[in-house]
Amino acid sequence: MQQSDTALVLFSGGQDSTTCLAWALERYQRVETIGFDYGQRHAIELAVRPAVLAGVRAIAPAWGARLGDDHMIDLSLLGKISDTALTSDVAIAMQANGLPNTFVPGRNLMFMMVAATLAYRRGLTVLVGGMCETDFSGYPDCRDDTMKALQVALNLGMATRLKVETPLMWIDKNETWQLAERTGGAALVDLIRTETHTCYLGERGALHPWGYGCGSCPACELRARGYQQYQQSKDVR
Ligand code: ZN
Repeated sequence: MQQSDTALVLFSGGQDSTTCLAWALERYQRVETIGFDYGQRHAIELAVRPAVLAGVRAIAPAWGARLGDDHMIDLSLLGKISDTALTSDVAIAMQANGLPNTFVPGRNLMFMMVAATLAYRRGLTVLVGGMCETDFSGYPDCRDDTMKALQVALNLGMATRLKVETPLMWIDKNETWQLAERTGGAALVDLIRTETHTCYLGERGALHPWGYGCGSCPACELRARGYQQYQQSKDVR
């Protein structure tokens, strides 16, 4: 427990950010969450947040005591100035520049900047994000170098000593499930499985072993494959 540090977790209601939230609750005495409404095609991501937060609070009394305010920020500006498969109704496809059209340019940069501004006002010293460059879609704003550069830029620009923590940066989806299990046991794995949302298409019909989703979009494929590997690793352990 790092008594002096307090954290702001970028929390979307998905698998990664829920795992990051649990990771932060194990480490910091006060943890707040921030979420962004940027005109996502499917509001389902935003809709699951309260249930996930309530579930996280219920896992351990200490977590319930440390988890503070949730801040929902309107970033509809981002949806207005960018045109991507996450904010408008077009099919998911690969672009000429090698990035999928689910990439929202500037998204994580803007998220981090807004989070730093809120952390400044709330006196929070650590920003926690679920960025990962291990098995990601090649989003350049998920890279470790991008996050490290951003930490420097934010601190220079605001005369602060904010720390940017990305606990998932070097682990794959299988290891993300394992991290959830180590942090919050079977209760957290079950909460992530049944309450969080990752699917790009907003599909929430049938509950698969790995959770809800269409099963075929890139986000579902990653999540399902990771869960399968996690189950196999459990058999070995
Ligand atoms: Zn899907």
